Amino acid sequence: MQSSKATSGLAPVSGAEPYADLKLFIAGEWVAKGSRKSQPVVSPATGEVIGELPHASTEDLDRALEAARDNFPKWRALAPHERGRILRKAADLLRERTERIARIATIEEGKTLAEARWEVGLSAEIFEWYAEEGRRAYGRVLPQRASGVRMTVVKEPVGPVAGFAPWNFPIGNPARKIGAALGAGCTCIVKPAEETPGSALEVARALEDAGLPKGVLSVVFGVPAFVSTHLISSPVIRAISFTGSVPVGKQLMKLAAEGMKRTTMELGGHGPVLVFDDVDVDQVLDLSVAAKYRNAGQVCVSPTRYYVHERIYDRFVEGFAARAKAWRVGDGLVEGTQMGPMANPRRTAAMDMFIADARSHGGKVHAGGTPAKVEGRPNGFYYSPTVLSDVPNSARIMNEEPFGPVAIINPFSDFDSAIREANRLPYGLAAYAFTRSAKTVNLLGEQLEAGMIGINSYQISVPESPFGGVKESGHGSEEGIEGLEACLVTKFITES
Ligand code: NAD
Repeated sequence: MQSSKATSGLAPVSGAEPYADLKLFIAGEWVAKGSRKSQPVVSPATGEVIGELPHASTEDLDRALEAARDNFPKWRALAPHERGRILRKAADLLRERTERIARIATIEEGKTLAEARWEVGLSAEIFEWYAEEGRRAYGRVLPQRASGVRMTVVKEPVGPVAGFAPWNFPIGNPARKIGAALGAGCTCIVKPAEETPGSALEVARALEDAGLPKGVLSVVFGVPAFVSTHLISSPVIRAISFTGSVPVGKQLMKLAAEGMKRTTMELGGHGPVLVFDDVDVDQVLDLSVAAKYRNAGQVCVSPTRYYVHERIYDRFVEGFAARAKAWRVGDGLVEGTQMGPMANPRRTAAMDMFIADARSHGGKVHAGGTPAKVEGRPNGFYYSPTVLSDVPNSARIMNEEPFGPVAIINPFSDFDSAIREANRLPYGLAAYAFTRSAKTVNLLGEQLEAGMIGINSYQISVPESPFGGVKESGHGSEEGIEGLEACLVTKFITES
């Protein structure tokens, strides 16, 4: 069944031409493959191999560690406004290079060009935020206990940071980790996802061109478990920032615990959305469909479980399904595409598994439920925007993060049961609700268990707001003042 309109795929992506210059960036040097191991990078839109990514050897990782260690004293000693000047210049360069970087992100990740352009702008804003926030790493002077005694609290950079960024925001995820570390005065080694290396390398290039001293940042790739084990086990690394799945986050925390290292863990979610019966249904549907199918649902704060008041339930399901069927799936490079392919074939296989399982538990499929066919792109990883309803809690998709273009819609009759369902899972990243009642809004704010809550809105993240979850969705926040704080330690000094 092909329920979505497909756009014609005629964009010029060819395996013959590299889409980006794939290298390692170690201690300020661009390192080509040479005799290193490597892996192919595949276009999700076409299924073609588009580049070959070198893997860092053990020696490469050690050089990155040495550079992070040796350059830390100089970078932390640089005045925050000087560090900020470099970050701001890098932000300007990102903006100037928007078309080039957005195209790389679309080619390697699949998202639409419009989404990729937005992500470049977001990354520039993140750098600007940390450029400014680094100047506000304030300490404090405590009231004296006796004459001649001075007691001060200072904030200092924690030390070299290792960041592990996933593929779904190939520009923004590395920018968050690098921006926080550099703004706080820390050196940084980042391992972006091997599926989307070109975007992260462009972020590093912007920093290099902005005058970042050699060795303050390294970008490495390889077998994720090998690279993370090597970096986290090194005494050089003092803090870890990971975005990815809950199971991998738990593994990395165990490794970090061996060295008592600071961790920021931004893990998965299973976003509940409560829709009450006092809303403008069409308006909520228009917002919901765009939010659900953004980046083919591969967003950690994606709305996933819709709990809709029984009085508007049938209308909501029908309206969602009609909009999903009309959503245009295609190559993200092609003008007019609303949803690109999924990032890799693991995700399309996961969708098939989740949907078959939901059906076997009695769930109904109102739209999609199958891979999508896109003209001219027979081997791309496309999936149809999918709407399920009446899925029982025993189905896997009601318990595991689907990370794909699937909306699940179930009815509720009263506030307490809706909250109970919303909070049922061990996840607590993002939650959303739509209502016009001020009283309900207050109760939702109090009772929803999530790190970020959107009421009458899906806009829950700007660089000045903390981004992070509770429960098994992780701990610590990126961005906001909390994002800088994650890269700082507190020192108390008493003088008499
Ligand atoms: P995965 O768990 O294999 O990989 C997710 C990310 O973690 C990738 O970037 C990968 O390179 C990295 N990773 C995996 N093992 C690692 C290790 N031992 N050390 C360091 N990094 C490691 O899963 P996947 O198939 O690529 O993605 C699917 C799942 O990942 C989703 O279901 C979702 O839960 C999660 N995910 C979450 C986010 C997020 O924004 N929180 C982003 C991407 C993926």
